[in-house]
Amino acid sequence: MEQDILEYAAKMHCRELHMSVDLATGLKAVIAVHSTALGPALGGCRLFEYASTTAAAIDAIRLAQGMTYKAAISNLPLGGGKMVILKPKQISDRVAFFKAVGRTVNLLSGRYITAVDIGTSVEDMDIVATTSKFVTCTSTGLFTIADPSALTARGVLRSIQAAVKFKLGKNTLERLHVTIQGLGHAGYHLAKELHESGARLTVFDVKPELVQKCVKEFSAMVAPDFNTLLSLKADVFAPCALGAILNDDTIPRIRAPIVAGCANNQLAEPRHGRELMDRGILYAPDYAINAGGLIYVSGQHTRSTEAETKQNIENIYNTSLEIFERAEREKRSTNEIADIIAQERVKKKSESLEQVF
Ligand code: NAD
Repeated sequence: MEQDILEYAAKMHCRELHMSVDLATGLKAVIAVHSTALGPALGGCRLFEYASTTAAAIDAIRLAQGMTYKAAISNLPLGGGKMVILKPKQISDRVAFFKAVGRTVNLLSGRYITAVDIGTSVEDMDIVATTSKFVTCTSTGLFTIADPSALTARGVLRSIQAAVKFKLGKNTLERLHVTIQGLGHAGYHLAKELHESGARLTVFDVKPELVQKCVKEFSAMVAPDFNTLLSLKADVFAPCALGAILNDDTIPRIRAPIVAGCANNQLAEPRHGRELMDRGILYAPDYAINAGGLIYVSGQHTRSTEAETKQNIENIYNTSLEIFERAEREKRSTNEIADIIAQERVKKKSESLEQVF
């Protein structure tokens, strides 16, 4: 039986769900506004082929909840939302299509701010901006960056520095051994940051050309496959490719005392956070440390300067330390503590906790 969408929204504490059709362009969209307690619900506009409207709505709700937590843990004045568009077979007029996206966003009167996500681009957001002011990730702003992956990687580096300080008592990454899975946009920039910080790297990616680039530019060593990479004795394992990489199969084989990487949804299930903790492995919660891109987008929305935005990304060091220290004090896993801190921040601004979480 198909899932009841509003039941799912209630279970996820998602406050609003909007469905919209534009007959002229064929636009079919769902906007989930999970929370506006801390500010307007900002989240990307995803253009994706969904099996059904229900599947699209469930994805929007799930992703919107993630945005609430990510914004809250990053101390941003934002709530969490997401727009998903059921990708049509063909978009005959992309300008008309994204103008309609802007008009759809306007229906929420600013409670939702849209941005780039899978399937959409800065150019698309520029079109949205012609019909709506509730959009960011456009090509105009106090400062713009073509690829925010470098900022994501910078935040992850700051968290690795905090983890190394907390777990290994070291103030430097000099000579430390870091293994990296995935050398795409984020993984490559993380490898660069780590190399510039003096770390030794061993890397693996399914694309040999990306591996060779890191060998050439950063003198990285190469693991022939992921299983070998995982079994290497290292100081830090940085997952930068896939979700659910920390699971029943992989966790017992990790030989690094720290796991911190760019990938989203690294834990196959929340219980795997405790599993890592029980094995003495310090896990830096993914959504708290890979928020560099969101911090940038938020900065664009609030018209912050480049220096202010970069300072917020540097602050991922302090956010990480706060999570690690509290997790140790309360004998809870770091992923649990990150969620608790995010919930507390929303609660503080919200009149009734049970209506938000
Ligand atoms: P990407 O597609 O550019 O890179 C992913 C890389 O992983 C690719 O090079 C791919 O070949 C490699 N890969 C895929 N399967 C693999 C496997 N089994 N073993 C080894 N390598 C494999 O994506 P990205 O933008 O670098 O993002 C990587 C991860 O980081 C994703 O989970 C993404 O959601 C997350 N993330 C990225 C950003 C960002 O700014 N790019 C921000 C937040 C989170």
